[in-house]
Amino acid sequence: MATTEQPRILLIYTGGTIGMIENPETGMLEPFDFTHLIDNVPKIKLLNYVIDNISFDPPIDSSNINPAHWVDIARAIEENYARYDGFVVLHGTDTMAYTASALSFMLENMCKPVIITGSQLPIGEVRTDGEENLITAVQIAAARTRSGEPMVQEVAILFENYLWRGNRATKRSADNFNAFKSHNYPELAKIGLGINFHEEALLRHTHGADKPLRVNYSLDTSVMVLDLFPGIDSRTLRHQLATPGIKGVVLKTYGAGNAPTADWFISAVRDAVRRGITVLNVTQCVNGSVMKRYAAGDALASAGVLSGYDITTEAALTKLMILLGAGLEGVELHKALGRSLRGEMSVNN
Ligand code: ASP
Repeated sequence: MATTEQPRILLIYTGGTIGMIENPETGMLEPFDFTHLIDNVPKIKLLNYVIDNISFDPPIDSSNINPAHWVDIARAIEENYARYDGFVVLHGTDTMAYTASALSFMLENMCKPVIITGSQLPIGEVRTDGEENLITAVQIAAARTRSGEPMVQEVAILFENYLWRGNRATKRSADNFNAFKSHNYPELAKIGLGINFHEEALLRHTHGADKPLRVNYSLDTSVMVLDLFPGIDSRTLRHQLATPGIKGVVLKTYGAGNAPTADWFISAVRDAVRRGITVLNVTQCVNGSVMKRYAAGDALASAGVLSGYDITTEAALTKLMILLGAGLEGVELHKALGRSLRGEMSVNN
């Protein structure tokens, strides 16, 4: 429904470069409080929105983020869901794509925007990108369609010139203001003089839009990423696959999902699958998908490895955490991994 009321936005400040200041003794950047951050963005008042905030105490460098923090963010959203039109999460860039992916799977039936942003330069610096990112994120969180629905109804990352689907994005630069990219999915919006939304790319709830928000708080961290490289040997591979308690492995393979076909390799993977470990094949390439194309990929599939199609590592890992956390196993788990739950993979469900 159309509304003439002021948009209500909740800022959730977790930390990250955007709010950091330099420690004069060490010269190192350290997280600082929300008041410092917001005092440096006086222009935000010109938006004439109702903007409230919640802050991590203390705010953290996102290298320290873990699933307990994702639970805190999701809880803040759930508790305030009815009161706000949109949510902006201020977060460090280092693990932003993991947080975005995790939140996308945690927040089920969500019809409001959760926009995650941060910056490469602290807000107090003259050339900061933080001010613009924060203001644009707030505007996106308040944006509506012609019919008055929230324009964005998913978890997204806003950085410099682009809005990306959160579970499709990856940090690609430690230096560039355009720090994120989604290599397998188009941008949700292009930011230039205006904010140009690509409505055809935005997630829409074709069914179940009337269902209430449901939050999946349980994440199982018995997962790991195993990156292949020429020279990996049987001892290393078997040792990693024998990690005590491990339930899910994101196997990062070459090209279109290929791996060595040698017996020692395939049998180590097959043994792990037989022990009940779920192995998901994700390509090391930033662009493209795991495909049924080469014998070297087919051998993995016959060992019981599942295709991750064009999913990112961040999304694969967090999807496994959520599905394992929900207690899924066997065929049920495999089916859920083969479906796109929040637009994270290009598959027809
Ligand atoms: N180390 C910082 C963080 O992720 C980097 C950043 O925010 O850009 O918290």
